[in-house]
Amino acid sequence: MKIFNHISEIREFLHTCGDCSIGFVPTMGFLHEGHLSLVRECKRENRYGVVSIYVNPTQFAPTEDLDCYPRDLERDLSMLEELDVDAVFVPDTSVIYPDGFSTYVSVEELGDHLCGKSRPSHFRGVTTVVLKLFNIIKPHRAYFGQKDAQQAVIIKKMVRDLDLEVEVKALPIVRDTDGLALSSRNAYLSPEERRAGLALSKALAAGRASIEEGETKTAQIKAKMLEVLERETLLKVDYIEVVDLKRLAPVDTIIPQSTLVAGAVFVGKTRLIDNFVLGEI
Ligand code: AMP
Repeated sequence: MKIFNHISEIREFLHTCGDCSIGFVPTMGFLHEGHLSLVRECKRENRYGVVSIYVNPTQFAPTEDLDCYPRDLERDLSMLEELDVDAVFVPDTSVIYPDGFSTYVSVEELGDHLCGKSRPSHFRGVTTVVLKLFNIIKPHRAYFGQKDAQQAVIIKKMVRDLDLEVEVKALPIVRDTDGLALSSRNAYLSPEERRAGLALSKALAAGRASIEEGETKTAQIKAKMLEVLERETLLKVDYIEVVDLKRLAPVDTIIPQSTLVAGAVFVGKTRLIDNFVLGEI
């Protein structure tokens, strides 16, 4: 497994791959089984598997957790080595955003909903760094988690709008045995907070159950989910929404095969997100 810190080096390595298929998994590191599920699929579907580890400052607001975001590069690299990853790109911020950097990419409207409401500049940072990484790696396929469903929808839209030659795949959420969606940020949680955080996946399960019982009205589905969340005093609800999977705008009635039900909560200072979809991203 080769490790690269500089753009010219990884480009040179990937040139030697010729026409072979390149799969790419962008991450912010502190890897867990959710990331590894993407890497396995990437290796399965492509001749070369490339992973990036970069905590991207432009997707964090000044008040957010950039400085304390969990990091363990050595552990990450040994996990990737085990999966036979061919190349890992670990750039410094001076490599991605050299002095004088001033070009940003943003997908309009889709970023205004859900997480975009409480994190207004977040998706501009995500699309900018992902477009740069796509330009550096030039992957045939790129793998994202449905855990960040809004991110996956926005990246797919960017790829369509800008005619990028990459196939974007969104893979299912990997959960702990108790249902909590895996996240690098779970490392922040105390045992009590972790238990409280479970209410988010439970609330979404209640929402899903009510849809399966035939409920189609968003207000009723949201009420069922809020009932579960409001029982947990350690939680503060950021949002719980039922939206059109294509436009990400709230809907009054669920759209069969094209609905995203998503939530975000604060447990102490930690923000957790989770969702389920009816249909495919
Ligand atoms: P991050 O390191 O948080 O930026 O995540 C890198 C990629 O892993 C993103 O595409 C995430 O959606 C994906 N990911 C994170 N957590 C999970 C999970 N629990 N299941 C599946 N994919 C995940």
